[in-house]
Amino acid sequence: MCSIIGYCGSREAAPILVKGLKRMEYRGYDSAGVATENENEIQVRKGTGRVSDVNSNVKLDDLSGKSGIGHTRWATHGKVTDLNAHPHTSNSGKIAIVHNGTIENFEELKRHLESEGYSFKSETDSEVIANLLQKNYETTKDVTKTLRKTVSELQGHYAFVAMFENGQLTAARSREPLIIGVGRDDLFLSSDVLGFIEYTDEAIYVKNKNFVILEKGKFEIFNYDGKHVEGKPTKVSKEFGDVYKDHYAYFTLKEIHEQPETILKAGEKALDEIKSASDYIRDAKNIYITGSGTSYNAALIAKQILSKYAKIKAEPIMASELQFSPDIIEKNSVLISISQSGETADVLDAVKIAKEANCKIIAIVNPLTSSLAREADVTIGMNCGPEIGVVATKSFTSQLVILYKIAQKLNGGNLEIDFRQTSESISKILKDSKNIQQTAGKLKGISDIYVLGSGIHWPIAIEASLKLKELTYIHAEGIPSGELKHGPLALIDDNVFVIIINPNDPTYEGTLTSARKIKSRSGAKIIGISDVKSDLYDYRIEIPKMSESQFPILEIIPIQLLSYYIAREKDTDPDYPRNLAKSITVK
Ligand code: GLU
Repeated sequence: MCSIIGYCGSREAAPILVKGLKRMEYRGYDSAGVATENENEIQVRKGTGRVSDVNSNVKLDDLSGKSGIGHTRWATHGKVTDLNAHPHTSNSGKIAIVHNGTIENFEELKRHLESEGYSFKSETDSEVIANLLQKNYETTKDVTKTLRKTVSELQGHYAFVAMFENGQLTAARSREPLIIGVGRDDLFLSSDVLGFIEYTDEAIYVKNKNFVILEKGKFEIFNYDGKHVEGKPTKVSKEFGDVYKDHYAYFTLKEIHEQPETILKAGEKALDEIKSASDYIRDAKNIYITGSGTSYNAALIAKQILSKYAKIKAEPIMASELQFSPDIIEKNSVLISISQSGETADVLDAVKIAKEANCKIIAIVNPLTSSLAREADVTIGMNCGPEIGVVATKSFTSQLVILYKIAQKLNGGNLEIDFRQTSESISKILKDSKNIQQTAGKLKGISDIYVLGSGIHWPIAIEASLKLKELTYIHAEGIPSGELKHGPLALIDDNVFVIIINPNDPTYEGTLTSARKIKSRSGAKIIGISDVKSDLYDYRIEIPKMSESQFPILEIIPIQLLSYYIAREKDTDPDYPRNLAKSITVK
């Protein structure tokens, strides 16, 4: 999702802002811009495209001034155009803002401001913030009062940083992230610690519905009622600043290759939390598991793991859907919420609904400083290091390992899983990737891929289809093998590829029967992901023999690689798939 950043201190702001925006690129965006204040004048430069391209076109980092704000936009209101890119200035040109999120009542506010003579240059919802600030500043002549009045008028999910013509910075947040970075001679405001990690590891996570006023090297935080709030500094892990690709061409490839280590580290630092989580689960009336995208697919697998190994029933709920049927959640239950970033708006909303029903919240999350971690009763860290590629890879396998560890605790230690062996098997699949690379070449011109699997392989088929969609832009669907004959078989013709996830287990024969139906009715090509050979497969991706508990963790690896290599064949950018963002902090 988009990023906002602000800087004021003793150095030139623009190069610091551009660097910060680049480090936060992984969050996803379509346009970029910077504004600085120099001698009481605000200058803005912006444009569509990547930060480095906008920078070479309009020289963002040449702007002078020791105070400034920057933005990468992920358009929600108005097309991806230079004019809609942020920063936006107020009509007087004396206030500039960058905004992340959406202002729900912007139409009403805009009409009101227009009736008072204000005009608007962009199609965005964000521009109302700049003019509202101007209007309120002209009446109050006081920055703190202006902020307080402005936030009382805004509705929606937002975080913004505003810069006044004297270079003074202010910011506010309502359910979008905002962090203050406290340096020796400078202060930062940012969506993510990566915006400033190079300069300071001292961060203050601004609480929801709080605003910040920076003045003369100091900051003050207020809640929306205008009461002064203490900011608690946290030392952020430098590890989260370690976002380099090493010798890999793309972050996504690097992150796929990190999995032999990351699955061993998953939940490693959270053994007490895993125990508390299992205690909560054991005592709960009902258990729900929520997530979005890949994390939701982990929830589907969690349902199977918990029922099989711990005889516990858990209901997966898609986070974005819960708001439409909140009554599903029964009081005094447990919600396991899974999110890589811990900032996904849909997941945070689901947590809010569950908390209102007096549920305990277990979070499985990567950054321990995220909003979700702070909302939860128990937080289990994935401990897999920063995941920069927009498409979830290593976070997914870490989530699965943690879910198995919870099941182990619940099962009283009778579930033995040799994660070291799982790690070695992943290494083997990664080492033999030549075959997968060659297979990818066959799929680059295809427009439909169906992925079949049964039992625990079905949610993996769903996750596989998500990887294929995200990375290759090919239409893909995950289908339970036995359901093929009940409808989807009508779609199978000579032009499609079918991937069947088929290790030698009780689902093996049934899935093979579906493959046989495909072969006898069409010329569709079949890729078998299996430890067993079959004449039905046009191509086989061999996976090592494995024990049942390793299935989901191992099976997804060849699909991640296949999707990555198809993306490379199609010459698309695996790290930044079109239209997608890493952490979806808007609704
Ligand atoms: N809603 C704003 C826009 O469309 C900000 C979107 C964002 O978070 O980047 O410009």
